Amino acid sequence: MALSIPDIRNDFPILKQTVYGKPLIYFDNGATTHKPEVVIRTVSELQESYNSSIHRGLHYLSDRMTERYEQARESVRAFINAASTSEIIFTSGTTGSINSVAFSFGEKYVRPGDEILITEMEHHSNLVPWQMMCERKNAMLKVIPMDDRGELVLDSLDDLITEKTRILAVVHASNSLGTVNPVKEIIRRAHALDIPVLVDGAQMVQHGEVDVRDMDCDFYVFSAHKIFGPTGSGVLYGKEKWLEELPPYQGGGDMVDRVTFEGTTYNALPFKFEAGTTNYTGAIGLGAALEYVQSLGIGEIKEHESHLIRLMTDKLEGIPGLTLYGRAGHRISVFSFLLDQIHPYDAGMILDKMGIAVRTGTHCTQPVMDHFGITGTIRASLVFYNTEEEVARFADGLEKTMQMLS
Ligand code: PLP
Repeated sequence: MALSIPDIRNDFPILKQTVYGKPLIYFDNGATTHKPEVVIRTVSELQESYNSSIHRGLHYLSDRMTERYEQARESVRAFINAASTSEIIFTSGTTGSINSVAFSFGEKYVRPGDEILITEMEHHSNLVPWQMMCERKNAMLKVIPMDDRGELVLDSLDDLITEKTRILAVVHASNSLGTVNPVKEIIRRAHALDIPVLVDGAQMVQHGEVDVRDMDCDFYVFSAHKIFGPTGSGVLYGKEKWLEELPPYQGGGDMVDRVTFEGTTYNALPFKFEAGTTNYTGAIGLGAALEYVQSLGIGEIKEHESHLIRLMTDKLEGIPGLTLYGRAGHRISVFSFLLDQIHPYDAGMILDKMGIAVRTGTHCTQPVMDHFGITGTIRASLVFYNTEEEVARFADGLEKTMQMLS
């Protein structure tokens, strides 16, 4: 059944407001998404009624909070079809998850002269941690290039993967170009040479099915706040065999089994990777967000977003002087573009005054901007609560912006 967008918008209190007297058009969902009532209520109910540290208390409140936290872990497991909750680590977000793998994997498996493979379209979060690890370990960062449509040049894989390649990290959907990468194919080719793959799903989980077992990725990471959950929380999925073998990234409470001055043994999975007091309210809020998304139906979300993608592409292509960056065949509803002779910041400011929120700049993908020889773009990123009318108003807003600034 098709989504009822007016009903869905009613679930998001923030969307009801006006900005500068105009109805808000929020097209900055790639940066962060808004929260439905159920997530807001879940988090405030936790603070009001359950606030208590998890795992360590025997008392009623701590037990209830622990139960909700572990239920949230099960919701994440089910959402991405992981084999076990032992494979679901709660982190501070995508960035926290990638740093954790880059550190732990680097410590255990990377030697001087080894190679790490990433792609040209990575967010800085899936680039800098690997670069830092390469510096620490005297290893080399190699890059799978993309073409001018914003699609990876996979023919280069055979040359780029060598016997020194230790891990490949790739973004599932690009936050600045909208490209959805053929991760299953990339994983199949890497695995044929025994190379594990980390997939950055920060921009994918909110737009389509993610099945980590079907994909066969070794690690999958995402942030709660980009999938209608709270900020400061996220997920690191790792195959159990890797998580068993890797050393923990951080030490502290909860991740230990026995501690003496002579040495420490670690807790079982997933707790070995959850040192200290975790952001348990964020994790439980994420669980509520995932259940909300599932109640709408991923198929239905995809159908509505595909319609928005077609509309938006037609509208943008119809505006003379607009250049679209990222023309991949398989894409999410993220559009990067420039208006002839107009600085993206100026356009962003004018659009803001029309009540339209977009992002301008490099979107934490400076190498992508370098590829196209530009310093930044305007980015409009849409999710299921956006509407046809908003797309039409946005296109009008762009034309007015061009008239005003040209
Ligand atoms: N990876 C991608 C593709 C992203 O779009 C983002 C955020 O924009 C990140 C990683 C980093 O996410 P976070 O800042 O939530 O850790």
